[in-house]
Amino acid sequence: MEFNTKVIHGGQQHDPSTGAVMPPIYQTSTYAQSSPGQHKGFEYSRTGNPTRQALEKSIASIEGGTYGLAFASGLSSIDAILKLLSPGDEVISTNDLYGGTFRLFNTIFKKFGIVFKFIGMEETDRIADHITDKTKLIWTETPTNPMMNVIDIRRCAEISRENDLLLVVDNTFATPYLQRPLELGADIVMHSATKYLGGHSDVVMGALALNDKDLAEKLYFIQNASGAVCGPMDSFLVLRGIKTLHLRMQRHCENGRAVAHFLRSHPKIENVYWPGFEDHPNHEIARNQMKDFGGMLSFKIKGNKYQDAIKVLETLKVFTLAESLGGVESLSGHPASMTHASIPKEEREKTGVSDSLIRLSVGVEDEKDLIEDLRRALDLI
Ligand SMILES: *Cc1c(COP(=O)(O)O)cnc(C)c1O
Repeated sequence: MEFNTKVIHGGQQHDPSTGAVMPPIYQTSTYAQSSPGQHKGFEYSRTGNPTRQALEKSIASIEGGTYGLAFASGLSSIDAILKLLSPGDEVISTNDLYGGTFRLFNTIFKKFGIVFKFIGMEETDRIADHITDKTKLIWTETPTNPMMNVIDIRRCAEISRENDLLLVVDNTFATPYLQRPLELGADIVMHSATKYLGGHSDVVMGALALNDKDLAEKLYFIQNASGAVCGPMDSFLVLRGIKTLHLRMQRHCENGRAVAHFLRSHPKIENVYWPGFEDHPNHEIARNQMKDFGGMLSFKIKGNKYQDAIKVLETLKVFTLAESLGGVESLSGHPASMTHASIPKEEREKTGVSDSLIRLSVGVEDEKDLIEDLRRALDLI
């Protein structure tokens, strides 16, 4: 089955009791048993729910995996993966990481004795220098937020396999429409389904997909034992979102390309970070592992003035200033004062998060209106 068919039919069947084409929202916590232990496959909705199960099968299918798991948030799906580890185990993680993931690693799991090494992973060969006999897992996110660096998943998978480690890829920015980490050799793919999979800024959810049966059983155990599951209504919303993922992503990519080129040609812009440019430092890797380049990009205003960035963000009308990304509507953000505010200025400037950096999640509106909105805001500085 091709991807564009999988998003609609992958892992899905009509509801066996009524023939309903979409799985009903099974808003129930529990299921009748005819005799203790005698039931129709479901006992309790933390352990399993038919709406959530339909979504989990869809997620497995679109990622080219065998097993799918859905969680209450992206972070709770990351939490479940980290619970595979024991005190003393080491994780090598990219340093260009979603802020919430960094916080979860560096405050919660550090406290329980997991050791994290944060390194720049665009140079994949440096990973091996940090592997010890305690290393268990490599954590990557690509493209990264907000600098849009691209990490070579195939190369990470080789290093991971040679050293008997697990490779996890946070595929939130790319989505399986653009990039399928399991097919490139990753062991687990992770999503904040809040973003492109849901796609309509109306739900918070996380998801995992993988192929290995033993690993899947351990994760299902953690999902049930720790209990950070999503509800049936949210499962329905994300399942519905996935059915148009290919259409939305195609337009996100077209609009992203148009906005990236407009900004690059604008005299007040110093730099645009978007992996589709041929002179992007990781463009070749992006071409090799991604189908297209997506709708996420960042740009820096000449002069690097904080006030210029704020003025642009306050003026934009079609782009809404808000946290999050991946919805049908275009969003703007100021990493230095929003997502990366807790990082000291010198530290964030080193990774490129300067005062005038603006991040855009380019939506699926008409590209003319998006460009006009940006042109008008830039005219005022
Ligand atoms: C949003 C996000 C997360 C966290 O997901 P939540 O659904 O907000 O818990 C993790 N990784 C990336 C790349 C994200 O953008």
